[in-house]
This record gives sequence, structure tokens and C-alpha cells, in this order.
Amino acid sequence: QPVVEAKQVNKVYGGKGNVYTALDQIDLTVQEGEFVGIMGPSGSGKSTLLNMLATIDQPTSGDIVIAGTSILKMNEEQLSIFRRDRLGFIFQDFNLLDTLTVRENILLPLALAKMNIHELERRVDEIADKFGIRQILDKYPTHISGGQKQRTAASRAIVSKPSLILADEPTGALDSKSATDLLESLRDLNEQDKSTILMVTHDAFAASYCKRVLFIKDGRMFTELVKGHANRKE
Ligand code: ADP
Ligand code: ADP
Repeated sequence: QPVVEAKQVNKVYGGKGNVYTALDQIDLTVQEGEFVGIMGPSGSGKSTLLNMLATIDQPTSGDIVIAGTSILKMNEEQLSIFRRDRLGFIFQDFNLLDTLTVRENILLPLALAKMNIHELERRVDEIADKFGIRQILDKYPTHISGGQKQRTAASRAIVSKPSLILADEPTGALDSKSATDLLESLRDLNEQDKSTILMVTHDAFAASYCKRVLFIKDGRMFTELVKGHANRKE
């Protein structure tokens, strides 16, 4: 059974003669253990689609199916439990809290989990080793590099062992060394821990780490690059 599916998803912004179709009949199935990339130019609908799959935003029409259950059949409480327990989201701009240390930021998603302090410590150490940030665990975000921030954000995204990791331009703000480190960590998560990952990027190097790459342009999805699509006749 797929981890998440988008079925005939449309997203329209605005109204009254000022409508803008950000997503146009998107169909997407992500199976367990996949590492899928979604590429497309700025404004093509990548973030909008990711927000739908994360259930942060709702489609105008169509459906999102999570582990076999339609979001149309889930109430707000069930959706928030899904987001908390099953989903890891890596944001482009990190979204770290500057008043908390790296360790505390990583532990945030487990704040409500019934785990004892030793389990929590062990989990953080394990993840910090995976992402090579053990030596900065007690520092504050304002005192670490961009690459370290992104790896902290990635650590936070996976600390609850989510069944699906959604990453929005995770290398967008990184130099190439940091980007490579993060991508290799994501690849390890996928190959060793069998994490399912969906990554939005407009960087071909980042996309080269994905096992399957889809393309989105003007809100429409393609399974391969369509040359001259801008001139394509409907
Ligand atoms: P990408 O992530 O590929 O850059 P987005 O999903 O952010 O693209 O945006 C797709 C299109 O939808 C863009 O033209 C954007 O301006 C528009 N858009 C996104 N969010 C909104 C919104 N809340 N209201 C109106 N238009 C929006
Ligand atoms: P990204 O860098 O991921 O493409 P954007 O800069 O396009 O993100 O959008 C950032 C935020 O602003 C998103 O939450 C998006 O929904 C919102 N947004 C984008 N375009 C518009 C728009 N034309 N009107 C209102 N909100 C928008």
C-alpha cells in the first residue's frame, strides 16, 4: 500500500476573474521505501504540492490518500496526529527555534512522546552521529553554520522515525559541501533505514540522489523532461 497518493489534485488560488491554477490534475503515488524527486522551475507548484501531501493545505478538488485513508475522511485531529507521528518535514529555511539548543530543537517533536530521558538521549545521539552534528548539540542555532542548521532541521524531521519525509529544497541554502553531506545522509536514511523520502528541488545535483524523478511545470506533472513544453500545443 502506498505511503501517500495524490489523486487528480487541483489547487486554485484567488477567485472572481483572478483565478490561478497552481496545480492541475496531479496524480502521484509514493510507495514505501522510495526516494522520489520533484523538479521544476520557481513558481511551478512544487511547494503547493508538498503542502498538500503534508496535509498543511487542502486541494481545491481531488484527494490525498495517506496509508490508504482519504484526507476527506479524516478530521483535523486525525490529520494533526498524522503530521505529528508519521511525517517529517524539512523546510527550506530550516525553521529552527533560536532560543533552544540544537539538541532541544531536535527533541521538539518528541516533547509529547512518552519516552524516558535515557531513550531520548540515545535517540538524539544516534541521529547526531548520522548527520555528523554531535559536537554542536549544545550550541544555539545562531552559532552554527547554514549546513549545520540544515542538518539539525533534518535531524528534527526524522527524530520521531516518520514513515514519510518531505523535504522542500533542502539544499537550497547550502554550499556544495554541505549539500553533498545532507544528500548523502538522506541517501543513507533511504537505503539503510528504508525511509520513504520525497524531495522537491530545482537542483539537478540534488535530484541525482533520487531513485525516481518527476517534473512539474505550470502545475502539471511529467515523468520526464518535456523539451519545449512552453510551446506545446494543447
Ligand atoms: P514553487 O514551489 O514551485 O516555486 P509554489 O507552489 O510556491 O511554486 O507556487 C506555485 C504558484 O502558485 C506560484 O505562481 C505562486 O505565486 C502561486 N501561489 C502559491 N501560494 C499562493 C497563495 N497562497 N496565494 C496565491 N497564489 C499562490
Ligand atoms: P518557494 O520558495 O518554496 O517557492 P514561495 O516564495 O513561492 O516559496 O512562497 C512562500 C510562501 O508564500 C508559500 O507559503 C506560498 O504559499 C506563499 N505564496 C507564494 N506566492 C504567493 C502569492 N502569489 N500570493 C500569496 N501567497 C503566496
